[in-house]
Amino acid sequence: MSSNKATQLQAIASEIAHCTACPLHRTRTNTVPGEGPADAEILLIGEGPGQREDALGRPFVGPSGDLLEQWLAEIGLRRDQVFIGNVVKCRPPGNRDPEPDEIAACAHFLDRQIELIQPKLIATLGRHSLNKFFPGARITKTHGIRGVKRAGSRVYLPLFHPAYILRNLSAAPAAVADMKLIPRLIKRLEQRLAEEAAEQAPPPATASVDAEADSHQLKLL
Ligand code: SF4
Repeated sequence: MSSNKATQLQAIASEIAHCTACPLHRTRTNTVPGEGPADAEILLIGEGPGQREDALGRPFVGPSGDLLEQWLAEIGLRRDQVFIGNVVKCRPPGNRDPEPDEIAACAHFLDRQIELIQPKLIATLGRHSLNKFFPGARITKTHGIRGVKRAGSRVYLPLFHPAYILRNLSAAPAAVADMKLIPRLIKRLEQRLAEEAAEQAPPPATASVDAEADSHQLKLL
């Protein structure tokens, strides 16, 4: 199953490598499809490749990547234990923001990666990634516990982008505190899913009529 998923992820990466669906393909050196385990529980989504990412074809390398790795270490994880991707897979020239039509043209790749990986938690890093899952939100007001939302069997957590923290060091403690929510949120999600599954389970076949009546009464109290 997992190796099948890995093969499918690789197939998406190959498609990305040949993609010419938006103007960003003209100026890229390498595509940056994202990297990490095909069955990762955590998916981190940044904005787009920068100069070093474009040169190496890997997401979050350089100072932002170093800081992201430090944050992951705070919760006992290495970067190869999470999937790291971007909203656009090719570098916007001069590190400008990706245009809305570029984001739209690229969106299906990320959507397919998410569909395949089925992460328990998606953490957004930066404005464009935030706006994909939290339309209209501002990171300074939404980051961390204030922005957490659940949809089905997945939790979404808005995080500061490491590049923002490198320019605004006073926000670094808040960024680390937000990161530390990740294991707690996954644990709580698993508990809630187990509780909901138990609530939907039929009563045991051996339950007596009296016991069923008692439990029914308890629910009414
Ligand atoms: S940014 Fe996305 S849509 Fe645009 S060329 Fe690269 S892979 Fe294709």
